[in-house]
Amino acid sequence: MNEISRLGVLVVISSPSGTGKTTICKKLINSDKNLSLSISVTTRKKRDTEREGIDYFFKTKEDFMILKKEGQFIESALVFDNFYGTLKTQVINKLKKGIDVIIDIDWQGTRQINNFMKGNVVKIFLLPPSLKELSNRLSIRGSDSVKEIEFRMSKAVKEIEHFNEYDYVLINDNVEEVYSKINQILDVERLKLIHQNYLKNFVSKLTRK
Ligand code: 5GP
Repeated sequence: MNEISRLGVLVVISSPSGTGKTTICKKLINSDKNLSLSISVTTRKKRDTEREGIDYFFKTKEDFMILKKEGQFIESALVFDNFYGTLKTQVINKLKKGIDVIIDIDWQGTRQINNFMKGNVVKIFLLPPSLKELSNRLSIRGSDSVKEIEFRMSKAVKEIEHFNEYDYVLINDNVEEVYSKINQILDVERLKLIHQNYLKNFVSKLTRK
């Protein structure tokens, strides 16, 4: 641990499905070389636009349960009748190398990661500008059936009720603005002492008599 000059920042982003979280996460990753997106495992069916190992690792329920039994997840949860989980390998190794990691998960997973990391997590919640807008965005996406969209809308309100468990809550009415605010949050969080291991050496040199 001592030779690590910097411990990565772990950022969790949650929002109701369709709030634009995936777009924002991809934008952040593409513009920041030190930021890595954690790819989750899911038992959900792959959408036509999605790619294995890039959007998710798509698994059967049986394979998901094997990974869970093996203790490979930091967190896992049942979301919209499908299992989702965050692999330890997607997060821990990167943080130790000084890489900042962003995870797009629901409130249940956020609680588990918060416990696992003993609070060393930056928790960001994105709110839709309105429920009508959220419904429009889910319809435009066109990858889910009408039944699935109705189901996701009914779950959206429940997800929103957890907004006060987060450190930062942003309304996504403008992708560029939210993107810029998250970059500001990242800048500040990176300056925190816990992420600057090298300072211990620096200060000990400064104070050496
Ligand atoms: P979608 O099926 O639309 O990709 O995602 C549905 C919901 O599952 C989103 O709110 C997303 O944040 C959440 N989710 C995605 N991956 C994970 C994960 O690994 N763990 C948990 N707890 N939630 C996840």
